[in-house]
Amino acid sequence: MSRFYEVRQKDGAARIGRLQLNEVVQTPLMLRVESLTYWESKEGRGEVPRGAVGAVLLPEVHPFFEAGNSQSGDFFVLAFASALLNSPRDFARRIVGARERIPPDAALWVPGVATAENAAVLFYAGVDLVDNTNAVLKGYGGIYQTEEGEERLESLEELPCNCSVCSSLSAGELRKKAGRKRALLLARHNTLLLEKEVKKVRARVRAGTLREYVEQKVRSSVFLTAVLRILDSEAEVYFERRTPVARRGVQLKANTMESLKRVEVRRFARRVQERYEPPAGRRVLVLLPCSARKPYSASQSHRKFVEAVADFRGCLHELILTSPLGVVPRELELAYPAAFYDIPVTGYWDAEERAWVASCLRAYLERNLQNYESAVVVAHLGGAAREICSGVAAELGVEIVQTCEGERGEEATTAVCSKEGLSRLKEVVAELCGEKQRLTGFELKAGVVKALADFQFGLGAGSGLVGNLSLKKNLPKKKEGERMKITGKFPFYKLSSKGEVLARIVPEFGTLALTVKGARRIANFLSPRSSYKVEIGDFVPKGSVLAPGVVNADPEIRENDEVVFCGEKAFGVGRAKMSGWEMVESRRGVAVQVREVEEI
Ligand SMILES: [Zn+2]
Repeated sequence: MSRFYEVRQKDGAARIGRLQLNEVVQTPLMLRVESLTYWESKEGRGEVPRGAVGAVLLPEVHPFFEAGNSQSGDFFVLAFASALLNSPRDFARRIVGARERIPPDAALWVPGVATAENAAVLFYAGVDLVDNTNAVLKGYGGIYQTEEGEERLESLEELPCNCSVCSSLSAGELRKKAGRKRALLLARHNTLLLEKEVKKVRARVRAGTLREYVEQKVRSSVFLTAVLRILDSEAEVYFERRTPVARRGVQLKANTMESLKRVEVRRFARRVQERYEPPAGRRVLVLLPCSARKPYSASQSHRKFVEAVADFRGCLHELILTSPLGVVPRELELAYPAAFYDIPVTGYWDAEERAWVASCLRAYLERNLQNYESAVVVAHLGGAAREICSGVAAELGVEIVQTCEGERGEEATTAVCSKEGLSRLKEVVAELCGEKQRLTGFELKAGVVKALADFQFGLGAGSGLVGNLSLKKNLPKKKEGERMKITGKFPFYKLSSKGEVLARIVPEFGTLALTVKGARRIANFLSPRSSYKVEIGDFVPKGSVLAPGVVNADPEIRENDEVVFCGEKAFGVGRAKMSGWEMVESRRGVAVQVREVEEI
């Protein structure tokens, strides 16, 4: 049967892979039923009983599966797949369940259920192969499938498609064809449509935007919308373990209510809670609205805010209130996805969005408010953001000063940038801060580098890298004879010490990339729970570390995380190309892309 499957690229649980059948094919893939006799004859020759690599095993029914032989296969078929269509819950649970029981580098085929309508969701959930059985059967039943569902051929005035079948005849002509001929033509159209959908999904996986496509696709079906909601609520961990921490330059479009539930959104909010602490010595917390342009600092509105408070920036701390991310500390505006999201701005926030953002703000204040000298919070917000903020402040008994009289929508945007609004902001901040204190260029940059390091590797990593920021002045305490320098224009900061580069910000990923020198500095500060370490065998990797060369890896690691790898002969840094658990469980594929390596 199959001899070999290799995952080349991933987007959440969906993957682009190379599967070796009688020729090498690419997944996500649609198999044609007409070619499936191939499987039967091979099966007849007894590949399954041998349990060899490449055997087709049937989860839940095949005896070898329970016997533990499942780990040796690289191609699995989900048995009784048609039962997936019984309920959205079965659909979600059975695919996730099957995927979790087979190796990460094995392909999963779900036979008989794929349509142009549901294929994107199947692949999104972790299926690698589908087939055109359903397309053919529906053709014989006189059903004309569309991207959003299906129609009876009789009810069609026109054929809403441009495939070779539909562009060569009209709906009337197709209806007049003899039974078998008509069935074959319908089956052909249904198959071509499914094949096109599979291609679209492959393109989305390559681009890293399958989630957006799925949010859009499920809209046409109550069943599929329910599947997505169940996946989001019941399989959060499953997707979290498979979702990269950052994607190069990919915008996260938060256009639907399901966008609030995305792994990237929840993870960002969790990390702000667990891996962020405000810079020491700042007296006043100022809440600001977000801007359409990212990073916020590059927007006109934020330039105005910064200009208004410039004289006092050294003693205040800026926190941006935004949907769907909740709260974004100024120092983390470059992180993924803070610099990479877009949301329709109408001034209207629905109840769920309000509740979510309020919960993020509440958690932040509960954890951090004591770190500011002033217990009074300044809110330079309009519209819904202002209401959310007032609500949370009242709940927690926090005193809040609103600096603009914003209404809804555009008016709110105007109000926060109006002359009156800005001068009121300046006035309030001046009063609360007392004496003027500007933020030095170094303080600003060091704050960003430190926060990004903590955000990526856990609290403590930042001070390991930049040094302890002193309480009073927020300047790094110099180690003996050490001079930290941060060069480069925003956002291309580069941290160095004694002329040696320790780390640099990579804005297209929103991450901090370490050098070997930098990695050695933070190694002792990392918590045992999130060490971001990959243990490798006794070799010196060149270019990449492959999965079989990995001895152990921190389970916290996700694709595109910055990792430190070490073995008997080498110490180095690079970017993870799979999750830590996948590095351990996979038998092939690139685990880490090496950036720098030192022989030991
Ligand atoms: Zn067609």
